[in-house]
Amino acid sequence: MKILVTGGAGFIGSHLCRYLIQKGHEVVCLDNFFTGKAINISDLEKNSKFKIIPYDIIKPIKLKEHFDRIYNLACPASPPAYQFDSIKTIKTNTTGVINVLEFAKLNGARVLQTSTSEIYGDPLEHPQKETYRGNVNPLGPRACYDEGKRVAETLFMDYHLKYNLQIRIARIFNTYGPSMDKDDGRVVSNFIMQALNNKPITIYGRGNQTRSFCYVSDLVEGLHKLMEFDSIGPINLGNPGEFTMLELANKIIKLTNSKSKIEYRELPQDDPTKRKPEISLAKRCLNWEPKIQLEEGLKKTIGYFKWIIKNNL
Ligand code: NAD
Ligand code: UDP
Repeated sequence: MKILVTGGAGFIGSHLCRYLIQKGHEVVCLDNFFTGKAINISDLEKNSKFKIIPYDIIKPIKLKEHFDRIYNLACPASPPAYQFDSIKTIKTNTTGVINVLEFAKLNGARVLQTSTSEIYGDPLEHPQKETYRGNVNPLGPRACYDEGKRVAETLFMDYHLKYNLQIRIARIFNTYGPSMDKDDGRVVSNFIMQALNNKPITIYGRGNQTRSFCYVSDLVEGLHKLMEFDSIGPINLGNPGEFTMLELANKIIKLTNSKSKIEYRELPQDDPTKRKPEISLAKRCLNWEPKIQLEEGLKKTIGYFKWIIKNNL
């Protein structure tokens, strides 16, 4: 198949492009390189089945080629990155999403949206099922992302209902692994870089907030299974193993043999207190569940960040 991946130079996108090429597909990737990096896809650029086009999806997509599948990943995912220009983040999730959907309609392509557990906000239901409608502050600093991703889901559903477009909606929970940007401010990259440099580990708040971390290869397999499955979703994709940030910090200190000490910083406004996916739908429908548990995934990710430091990247 011929597949378009928006945001393909980013963390998850680059793994997805590699996975699809290994499956024999032809992949074209659109990316504005806001958080994406050439190094994430440097191994693919020699491959005749891969093409990267620098492009911002808030402009209408006018590719001449025909695509069978479209994965929409274009959107910064780390809080400092999506808050850097909140209005741009909203444009990416509204104008950008409409452009992706229009292009899918023109192609008769199936199109998958990478939605997020953030649409559940600071959840009042735990763990979070797909039926939960969320608790989001529409005026807070996270709103450009949370509300942007919520309206993106609405747009996907409306194109499905109005034009019978084949859509898929994946609700992704915190994902980590190699190719994460060392400076993007997310917790796993921050803690590993701090630990490897024997710098203080910055815990926001008391560190008792929880997250559930999914290793990137598991996630990519889930995205592909959902795309090829016969249901529009939404389906949660995440690893139900739930950890406090203090537990995560201590695990990383141990795995890196670091001398780092923990330092407490102010908790950002609207930081969700807990998050854990209910994945029985993904297990039942997609026959999918994560295989790589936190310690094993952290070891691989630590190896990547050691390589980044050694090569001054
Ligand atoms: P990332 O920031 O590494 O990748 C996003 C990519 O999109 C980058 O390459 C960036 O340059 C590109 N991009 C941003 N705005 C664009 C625009 N307007 N036009 C074209 N390209 C644009 O983030 P990621 O972690 O790889 O996340 C990928 C997708 O998955 C995002 O849509 C994100 O919301 C979603 N998601 C990620 C997580 C996670 O934990 N990583 C969780 C839930 C959902
Ligand atoms: N966090 C932290 N220290 C850091 C970075 C993040 O304690 O250096 C916390 C953050 O407050 C949040 C959790 O880790 O509670 C996950 O943050 P991340 O930005 O990775 O993802 P998200 O908040 O979007 O789930």
